[in-house]
Amino acid sequence: MASSQSYEVTVVGGGLGGLTAALALRQRGLRVTVLEQAAELGEVGAGIQTAPNASRVLMGLGLRRQMEAIHTEPLDQVRRRWKDGGIVGLTSLGRRVKEQFNAPYWHYHRADLHRILLEACGDPDGPGPVVDVHTASKVVELDRTDPARPVAVTDDGRRHAGDALIGADGIRSRTRDLMGLPDTLEFSGEMAFRALIPGDLIAADPATRWLMDRFQSTIWYGPDRHLVHYVIRGGEYLNVVACVPCTDEVAEKWSVSATAQDLVEAFPGWDDRVPAMLSKAKEDVSAFALHHRRRDPVWMDGRVALLGDACHAMLPYQAQGASQAMEDAAVLAEELGAVTAAGVEGALRRYVDRRAKHAGMVQDASLRNKTFYHLPDGPEQRARDEKLRNFDGESDL
Ligand code: FAD
Repeated sequence: MASSQSYEVTVVGGGLGGLTAALALRQRGLRVTVLEQAAELGEVGAGIQTAPNASRVLMGLGLRRQMEAIHTEPLDQVRRRWKDGGIVGLTSLGRRVKEQFNAPYWHYHRADLHRILLEACGDPDGPGPVVDVHTASKVVELDRTDPARPVAVTDDGRRHAGDALIGADGIRSRTRDLMGLPDTLEFSGEMAFRALIPGDLIAADPATRWLMDRFQSTIWYGPDRHLVHYVIRGGEYLNVVACVPCTDEVAEKWSVSATAQDLVEAFPGWDDRVPAMLSKAKEDVSAFALHHRRRDPVWMDGRVALLGDACHAMLPYQAQGASQAMEDAAVLAEELGAVTAAGVEGALRRYVDRRAKHAGMVQDASLRNKTFYHLPDGPEQRARDEKLRNFDGESDL
């Protein structure tokens, strides 16, 4: 294999996608600079789930030990009906997932994964040169006067040249705009509440204690809305994601802070266990307008390419956005790690060829779930629930 150690990659954005890419590239021996606009690196206060496709990537980066220290492993995924909580589907996520996919299903706090990635990027004993991370570095321009050395220019005028530039700058990617790619962003008409409910409050109430008896990933389906919850940090929090029609205020502002009362009022007439749970959200409740990108396979131009939400932002209705970004990172590193600087453009092309179709299929499937999850009660809903029952499986760890 040709040596790639002589060349440099600039990654714009230090989110989960950008940091996973930085670490994967570092492990292939490349020199990596991350430019992050925020003054401090971190993630939103919320949980995240990764199915085996992404946990396999993280383990492939040598992070199994670190991930096992922060993860909570759900026993199964339960699908419930909105009105009475009746179980319409139960899928085993424990031992069966590991046996079938050779990788586990994990729940964890986003900030914990972000910290682990950052530590691995800067670990002096790790393979390859440590990643050079610059915070307070908002990229506002690309200078491609020399097509072989794209330059990211920050808002304070600093210039970072590299042999390749990767835009991992999220759903409102500036890199994408600067590349002149079409605006593929679409508003779904829905919003997601996010909340972390302290596990001790859940455990103290007989009406909600059942949530701590068995760690599960739970989805409640109802007309126009659905609710997801699961335990993170071994019971420290119940992570809640509640997707409902968007209000005008949230549509206009993209994100606002919210209250437990807002959450409870968003689920009128639902099974009593739902308000009992949601009313315990004390702080850190927020609501985000849900946008996604139209499927578009153009992710690169010359030596500049996109990764993660910048190219395939999707509705969180399959919990796959960050996971797909991690898959991008692994493939990008495989391709860039196998060539010298002269072959960068071809490597980026192969990266896009290997990833765009698959990520596009996941975008489409996530969008389809908007209809599938939110069916009004009636024949289609009954047919859906029947289909879900067919996925039932014995549960174990
Ligand atoms: P981001 O996380 O948005 O990171 C982009 C980074 O770039 C940020 O740090 C930003 O500050 C920085 N940046 C932006 N512009 C610039 C600039 N000009 N210069 C420098 N830096 C810049 N996915 C899952 O896999 N599992 C889940 O369970 C899951 N749950 C979700 C629940 C909800 C409610 C939502 C909304 C999403 C969920 N997702 C989930 C999707 C996931 O959050 C995203 O797909 C993922 O965070 C995208 O990562 P990213 O690195 O591409 O972008």
